Amino acid sequence: MSSALSQLPKVDRVLEHPRLAELDWRRAMLRRLVNEAIAAERERVLAALAQQADPGEVVGASAMAERVRARVDAWASPHPRRVLNGTGVLLHTNLGRAPLPASVRAAVAEAAGTCDLELELATGKRGSRLAVLRPLLAALFEAEDVHVVNNGAAALLLACTALGRPGGVALSRGQHVEIGDSFRVADMAAAGGAPLIAVGSTNRTHLRDYGAALDGAEGGPGASALLWVHRSNFVQEGFVGEVSLSRLAGLAEERGVPLIADLGSGSLGAGLPADEPTVAAYLRAGASLVGFSGDKLLGGPQAGLLAGSAELIARCRRHPLARALRLDKLGVAALHATALAHARGQEAGPDLPLHRMYALSVDELRARAERLRAALGWSASCVRESAATLGGGALPGSEIASVALVPELSAVEAASARLRGQDPPLVARIHEGELWIDLRTLADVDDEELLACLRELPVRT
Ligand SMILES: *Cc1c(COP(=O)(O)O)cnc(C)c1O
Repeated sequence: MSSALSQLPKVDRVLEHPRLAELDWRRAMLRRLVNEAIAAERERVLAALAQQADPGEVVGASAMAERVRARVDAWASPHPRRVLNGTGVLLHTNLGRAPLPASVRAAVAEAAGTCDLELELATGKRGSRLAVLRPLLAALFEAEDVHVVNNGAAALLLACTALGRPGGVALSRGQHVEIGDSFRVADMAAAGGAPLIAVGSTNRTHLRDYGAALDGAEGGPGASALLWVHRSNFVQEGFVGEVSLSRLAGLAEERGVPLIADLGSGSLGAGLPADEPTVAAYLRAGASLVGFSGDKLLGGPQAGLLAGSAELIARCRRHPLARALRLDKLGVAALHATALAHARGQEAGPDLPLHRMYALSVDELRARAERLRAALGWSASCVRESAATLGGGALPGSEIASVALVPELSAVEAASARLRGQDPPLVARIHEGELWIDLRTLADVDDEELLACLRELPVRT
């Protein structure tokens, strides 16, 4: 037993190997990687011996150095990398949600250096990072005022923490939404210390349920705020009922408490589906504050926005959490350029990649699919009608007619892995044992680039 273990290379021997010695990396980091690699090999040998199996040849110093080098090279390549989205999900959280247009990328690059983030150039005095963004966004969303933080969850946390004490925030059990990666809206709302008061039942909540929460339990304070959460990723059917946002707003007004509405996706309407509620519609319905993300239907960078009552926005802005959750200069620049794109987008909608993807007609998509198919020499049956979705917590269950290339393959998983291994990688969707490459989400990808990637597939023609 000890003979196999004694063959494990010494740390210094591996470190001295030319493949590691030539690196300009910190020695302590390389040493740690070498230690880990040797420990893994020791584990392997011990596991084999424990099962009375032959551990085989023990990895030597040279092969070990190669292993470590492979990890260093993997770390050294840029991340996140650009990928081609063939999934048909327009706002794919795993793929970085909304792709940003050139104007936004340019704004980010400009702000990345030294910039006037919090300096008034006219006076030389200290300014606010939101000096330009605030009135611009307020006008765009038809709100009294706007505050900006670093994501939608932070907007919710800030509003509930700043406005939900001492009595807590009342939320219908029918709106206890889980938004992915097992994060729950109710937990995020309560994370700042304002208690969350669950009202009603899963399928039905009545106005009197909210009323009871506002009255409070014996001796205790009533709820300090009402929370409405848009069911952004699921629908309820059957024996269900909820209080409309405007009726709830009536109750909030009567009792003098704020109504915070977590909309999730901040739609402006233009160029996007009419059945997704807009920020302005929520405000008109009487929400005191509406919270939403910058990188969902707004088509911009990761950010969280709060729009609504100037007085409540001021309370949020003064809360210490506002400082902890503030947006960085890259986000400010990106959101500013995104807001400009919306300001200039008339009925046709703003000139943003998300809106372009959404607007493509099925005829355009089919014509492109036919061109690509012909260039690849694939059979006619490879062009199929597909169903894209918005994703990113908007319009659950609703599909957008699309067109996909579905090549004839014998090993679908392997083909999918092969596409992910291209440069740039292409991410497709596996559906009922077939590989679907949806063209709607590939709207901005050059044909030549796409063809180069697809030619790598072992297609049966
Ligand atoms: C997406 C979503 C959030 C979280 O927004 P992030 O920008 O991802 O932090 C919160 N609430 C709802 C209803 C959502 O759909």
